[in-house]
Amino acid sequence: MTITQEKTLAAQVRSDFPILHQEVHGKPLIYFDNAATSQKPLAVLNALHHYYEQDNSNVHRAIHTLSARATEGYEGARDKVARFVNAASRQEIIFTRNASEAINLVAYSWGLHNLQPGDEIILTMMEHHSNIVPWQIVAQKTGAVFKYVQLTETEALDLEHFKSLISPKTKLVSLVHVSNTLGCINPVAEIIAIAHQYGAKVLIDACQSMPHMPIDVQAMDCDWLVASGHKMCGPTGIGFLYGKLDLLLAMPPFMGGGEMISEVFLDYSIYGDLPQKFEAGTPAIAEAIALGAAVDYLTGVGMDKIHAYEEELTAYLFKQLRGIPGIRVYGPPPTAEGKGRAALASFTVEGINANDLATMLDQEGVAIRSGNHCTQPLHRVLGVPSTARASLYFYNTRAEIDAFIVALKETIDFFRSVME
Ligand SMILES: *Cc1c(COP(=O)(O)O)cnc(C)c1O
Repeated sequence: MTITQEKTLAAQVRSDFPILHQEVHGKPLIYFDNAATSQKPLAVLNALHHYYEQDNSNVHRAIHTLSARATEGYEGARDKVARFVNAASRQEIIFTRNASEAINLVAYSWGLHNLQPGDEIILTMMEHHSNIVPWQIVAQKTGAVFKYVQLTETEALDLEHFKSLISPKTKLVSLVHVSNTLGCINPVAEIIAIAHQYGAKVLIDACQSMPHMPIDVQAMDCDWLVASGHKMCGPTGIGFLYGKLDLLLAMPPFMGGGEMISEVFLDYSIYGDLPQKFEAGTPAIAEAIALGAAVDYLTGVGMDKIHAYEEELTAYLFKQLRGIPGIRVYGPPPTAEGKGRAALASFTVEGINANDLATMLDQEGVAIRSGNHCTQPLHRVLGVPSTARASLYFYNTRAEIDAFIVALKETIDFFRSVME
């Protein structure tokens, strides 16, 4: 070590996250549940506070100053998100409550009106329930049928199997970019290119990639993409849908109400332009503005830097986990440099219930998830009802990984001693 060694990314940003500086059960908090929701930097908390203290008003409606400021903030946030994902137009960004609502929007609007009996929808075995259930509802109404892409032996997406499933009958491919359980990074650009050869549309669930790596929707060439604000340093209650302009223009509204119309008569209405057509009612104004602040914050830190630092954390986490007897980590392993997967590990320990692990770790101040992580079909494939999951973000440190590993080993030793 040299004195001039640069501070790690985490060391530079940790002071921006007030919540991280607390003790839980008398131990420093180690927050390793970032795949469920991320923590929020001061810039985001301040944006919420500032909005309600200075600008609170309804958008798009009044001509008074506060309404103009609120509208400017809300629409400015749309511009920020559009730039963040490199959308061709701001009209391609629709604010929703979360990623689940964004998928439902596409399912109800596009799916209900474009799917026919016998049309095929390709999903993967690793989808989040949010990317399964809306399609089931629409399939029940339209007669569309499902095909599911299997996993490879190393528990990654089986691209060859995908190629064997796709056909001219395929109307939609909807899949996760980075699995919230397996941590694998799926080859979405390749899948999209193949799907388009067959005339199928592709929706990308970017909930676990958007917070962690640069995303370019035009380079990816996805038809739709969804993400949740709360997993990318933003507040809850706000997410977004990206959709190609021509598709969004052709799609009918999902919900009706104020804001989404241009003229209303007693028996019919003329709908508003994009993006308002899909934003019925008063939107989550403060939350959208705060999401804009989150996007500014992430851009300021640098998505390339975040991704590179998380690869270092991934390499270190997996190296440390390998030393634990009886542990089974799911999903493909990273390279020695931590490449090829996300900084999260879902695992089981022989003979110990995942919830018991999480409960004991909480006593040590370590917050990890246990359960099925909204991927029940995947857990059936893996043959376990639940897993424990440690998921990291760029404010986490090697020292926290060390403390987590010590706590995990002690927990395992404790359960082993009780079982004997
Ligand atoms: C969190 C998550 C969702 C759902 O996000 P909500 O914010 O709950 O709507 C969907 N897919 C993946 C991969 C997720 O991680």
